[in-house]
Amino acid sequence: MTQRRRTALKELQELDQDLLDAKEGIQDYDPKFEAVENPALVLESETVRTRSRVQEMKLEERRLELSLEEKKTRQERLDERLGSVKNLREEAAVSAELEMVKRALQSDEQEAFSLLDQIRTLEDKLADLEVRYAEAKGLVEPALAALIAERDAGKAAVAALVAQRESFVAGMDPVELKLYEGIRRGGRRKAVAELTLDGACANCFGVIPLQLQNEIRHGNGLHRCEACGVILAAPDPDAAEAEAAAEAAKLATAAAVVADQANGDEAGTADDGEAEEE
Ligand SMILES: [Zn+2]
Repeated sequence: MTQRRRTALKELQELDQDLLDAKEGIQDYDPKFEAVENPALVLESETVRTRSRVQEMKLEERRLELSLEEKKTRQERLDERLGSVKNLREEAAVSAELEMVKRALQSDEQEAFSLLDQIRTLEDKLADLEVRYAEAKGLVEPALAALIAERDAGKAAVAALVAQRESFVAGMDPVELKLYEGIRRGGRRKAVAELTLDGACANCFGVIPLQLQNEIRHGNGLHRCEACGVILAAPDPDAAEAEAAAEAAKLATAAAVVADQANGDEAGTADDGEAEEE
């Protein structure tokens, strides 16, 4: 009787669905790994970039210091020369040059001051980045380890399901199995569906001809839905019973609601009713 209701096929389909879910669960891990690693990677590249920018600015600052030194020396020499000029023309020339050097010196000093300020700001930012990067990096290892353990458990579940399927399939009717595998090979997930209580295919809800319904219910031969191609199985009597019971319960609830409403109306109009009765 079990075989007639295609119980094995339905169980195999459930097993295959579990297997697909388990396999998909494993594939979902790549973006999860990325999501775990990404914050640290972003902080790392920002830290590296900021550090090299600080180094560049320090080099620039060093260059500026040297230029300042050189200008100061020139200023000193010009000051000396100014004290020993031989005529007014020479004095004017030296004064003009001295003025130029002083202005250049002032400009360099301003630049150096502003650069030092920028370096300090950037160094603060770098220190902050280094702390955040260290924190993020510290989180990556345990999070990755947890994800890997989770994925390994998923792989083990897949392996267990594959083994379960192998032994299950070994005990199945080869004709049923071949038809089932053929339908699934086309990329379809659903290869078996039950008849509904009113004789339709539970997959596409196309109505099955009466004669065929009877054959399916009695388990005579393997039949496929002409509309969608699934193998049709007789409804599980327990499931059918449960479905019928649920339907009955729903009807009973609806009836109770209707009755309640009627009672409510009655209560509201009780006086009228009594008046009428009298
Ligand atoms: Zn169908």
